[in-house]
Amino acid sequence: MKKKKIIIIGGGAAGFFCAANLDESKFDVLILEQNSDVLQKVKISGGGRCNVSHACFEPQELVQFYPRGNKELRSVFHKFQSGDTMEWFEKRQVPLKIESDNRIFPESNSSQTIIDTMVDEVKHKQFEVRTQAVVLDIEKQNDHYVVKTASGSYHADYIVYTTGSSPKSLKMIRQLGHNLVEPVPSLFTFNIKNDTLKDLMGTSFPFAEVSIPKLKTKESGPMLITHWGLSGPAILKISAWEARELAELKYHFEIVVNFPGIPPDEAEEKFKKFRQENPKKNIGTSKIFEITTRFWHRILTLAQVELNKNISSLSANELELILGFLCANKMKVTGKSTYKDEFVTAGGVELREINFKNMSSKILDNFYLAGEVLNIDAVTGGFNFQACWSEAWLIAQDLNAKEFW
Ligand SMILES: Cc1cc2nc3c(=O)[nH]c(=O)nc-3n(C[C@H](O)[C@H](O)[C@H](O)COP(=O)(O)OP(=O)(O)OC[C@H]3O[C@@H](n4cnc5c(N)ncnc54)[C@H](O)[C@@H]3O)c2cc1C
Repeated sequence: MKKKKIIIIGGGAAGFFCAANLDESKFDVLILEQNSDVLQKVKISGGGRCNVSHACFEPQELVQFYPRGNKELRSVFHKFQSGDTMEWFEKRQVPLKIESDNRIFPESNSSQTIIDTMVDEVKHKQFEVRTQAVVLDIEKQNDHYVVKTASGSYHADYIVYTTGSSPKSLKMIRQLGHNLVEPVPSLFTFNIKNDTLKDLMGTSFPFAEVSIPKLKTKESGPMLITHWGLSGPAILKISAWEARELAELKYHFEIVVNFPGIPPDEAEEKFKKFRQENPKKNIGTSKIFEITTRFWHRILTLAQVELNKNISSLSANELELILGFLCANKMKVTGKSTYKDEFVTAGGVELREINFKNMSSKILDNFYLAGEVLNIDAVTGGFNFQACWSEAWLIAQDLNAKEFW
């Protein structure tokens, strides 16, 4: 039996994981990568530690972390999910560990371990990898494809398109007939100039709640004051879920922040209870909420309450002001910043043009797509890689199941 030829365009996470799962007895595989090194994003991922996946083993729950793709990924995760990722790497002597926030990393704490495993697997199968091979064009000729690079053309029976979200590769897939959802950034932090945050860089809030009234949306979770404004999971989550709407607002909008993340009436009750139990205390030294003393003093300053004022002599108006700054603080966002260089793109190939049973194109025969090129993305925590692994695995299974005579 003559082996069939597969060309994988893009030597990133999705492309390599697909190759690593393909049956070498059936296929000759060629990976074409435009850079001089493969898997460059894996290398820098998770601060160099590679957050491979997330310890969430129920497909129904796992899809909740994907602002785009949650409906479509359900069936994909039923076939290959985080537990399968752990097993795949562990079978190849790469133990993974689950951290307290459920993120999964290699025990080595080095992304190189993940890279080496996939590169070794591909080498072992004797698949070919060509770097500095920029794919410029793909042409369908009768029953096969011709893939053109500056240094030559290659023929393939099947194409696996895993180019990530570079504008050029999106243009190429559009020229082949696919429609695109316009790419916009996802996962970013908010730029805010506001006296509440001034000079408090590094102050964190474990249970903050952030809402965007205009979009009728809110998220909660840890939040952090940065040099530029606000960051942390609560902000990143809302930036991912509302990526498209926030782009339309040109990143200028109002947010309402509840720093301790408790409803204002509950905060009031908490305050009154504390006052009753500690009537002689100064307001400045009263530890009532889960916030730093520095931040508490900032709130009191904004409410124009003297730090050494006796808590019992606080007026109703002063209390209202304090609770307003603390639990319903309105701020203007005037732009965005990248989170630890971890930019993710929302947008890409329209999901209705993909058959999620096997990640094949509904437009092009014998053509598969996976990874960031699709209109799928997730919040931080290892979910973006998990989508790559699951989709790529599905492609490999579909191809491996083919019978050739
Ligand atoms: C700094 C950073 C840290 C991150 N950390 C994490 C993390 O810890 N966990 C997580 O889950 N996600 C993380 N992400 C997101 C994750 O890296 C991506 O979701 C993932 O890499 C997407 O994989 P992919 O294979 O689709 O695309 P990529 O990894 O981008 O691979 C696509 C490859 O195709 C190549 N290519 C493109 N066009 C062509 C062409 N025309 N010809 C030839 N080759 C081409 C590119 O050079 C690239 O190598 C991080 C992202 C960044 C930027």
